[in-house]
Amino acid sequence: MLGRFSESKVAWEFPKIVLGVMGLMVVLGGGLYYSQTTTAAALMLNGQEIGYVASPDAGKQLVDSILVSQGDSSDLVAKTHDQIEFQDTRIRKGTLQENSVTEAKLNNLISTYFEGVQFSIEDAPIAILPSEDDFQKILQAYQEIYAKPSENNTITSVEFKELISSQPVEVQQAEFSSPEMVLETLRKGHEARTEYVVQPNDSWWLIARKNDMLTKEVLAGNPGMDEDKTLQVGEKINLVKVTPYLTVVSKGIYTGTETIPFDVESKTDYSLPSGSSVVRQEGSDGSKKVTYFYVQENGKNIEKEVLEEKIIQQPVTQVIAKGPTYASANVALSRGSGKVSGLGWPLRGGLNSYYGYRWGSFHTGLDIGGDTGQPFVAAAGGTVSSVGWSGGYGNMILIDHGNGVATRYAHASKVSVSNGQQISKGESIGLVGSTGRSTGPHLHFEVIINGDTVNPLNYLP
Ligand SMILES: [Zn+2]
Repeated sequence: MLGRFSESKVAWEFPKIVLGVMGLMVVLGGGLYYSQTTTAAALMLNGQEIGYVASPDAGKQLVDSILVSQGDSSDLVAKTHDQIEFQDTRIRKGTLQENSVTEAKLNNLISTYFEGVQFSIEDAPIAILPSEDDFQKILQAYQEIYAKPSENNTITSVEFKELISSQPVEVQQAEFSSPEMVLETLRKGHEARTEYVVQPNDSWWLIARKNDMLTKEVLAGNPGMDEDKTLQVGEKINLVKVTPYLTVVSKGIYTGTETIPFDVESKTDYSLPSGSSVVRQEGSDGSKKVTYFYVQENGKNIEKEVLEEKIIQQPVTQVIAKGPTYASANVALSRGSGKVSGLGWPLRGGLNSYYGYRWGSFHTGLDIGGDTGQPFVAAAGGTVSSVGWSGGYGNMILIDHGNGVATRYAHASKVSVSNGQQISKGESIGLVGSTGRSTGPHLHFEVIINGDTVNPLNYLP
């Protein structure tokens, strides 16, 4: 019983004689009623009376105060679908105090929500933000990471590769993400884990290349593994690849200075002692001013079209004079048998070590002397069947020439071919180095016939 007045019902049971007295009492009672009661408003929440407030205005203020306070310290104001109505009434003075609707009471009974914006990439929800404005600011900030205009860089268009959408949602405050955190998540990208089955001739390096990753990234996804660990064919390894949520596609025109690397030329000088070499001319890099149109994805060029090129400084070729080597001059030529026709020298240089037993072990190839960075070429046309780091060989290239003939090139400082690539005879495939088990820069060259190494000198012209 909420204390509304209904005592008059009882009065109708009195006999008529007392009606005059009653009439007087009604007048007196009326006066009494007004002096002992006050105006108030019953607060109706979804049709249910939950108590009194002093007036509809006081009640509305109470509701507003709750909605604002639910937004905590932020500027957010909660909303409610609950139906709140006020019914004017008169109640006994004490009743208003006893049954007043306090902020705490209404806060417990009212159902509230916040209006948010759900941000999705390719229909996958990423985060809920307080406003569309926050959403736009994040996209803007993310674009600015990769598309930075400058004096040298005129950006003509910036867009996202992915389908991005926003849609209004009703949420609780805890479901909101801060714009800073969303940007941070986007910057970091997400991890995608796949399984890879080791193929014949695979190495950590090759697996990384095949999957457009770095060797250390592949290793990081396989705890306990290191580069020296031999891979078994059929073994399963993890590929944990971090992929960005968003791809900024920017187009523009860039003007910048680029280096022109110098060439190295070596000439045989019969006045020098055998095996020695002298730099006749120091090489130096040149430079050029290049203007090109580009298409970038997250800052990486995926298309580049040179519009203008102006040489600022010509490179100077490094000229190296070498003493004659009896090996390349005599032995190689005299031993050529032509059993496999068409093989050419991959590199011109002195022979440091021959095929066969040396220091108690079997040497499976021919070591041709060279300088680090000097290019070597394919001995014949064929298909690259394996490329990458391979234990003692260091950076290695294996070319299949068909008819059971293959050639191997080891210790390269750099390889410039990829697996499956078609190579023609004399094509530059890598640079001389000293990677793997090697005591100095040279090219270790093998000729393999039906799976067995043979003496390359028997097959070279
Ligand atoms: Zn060797």
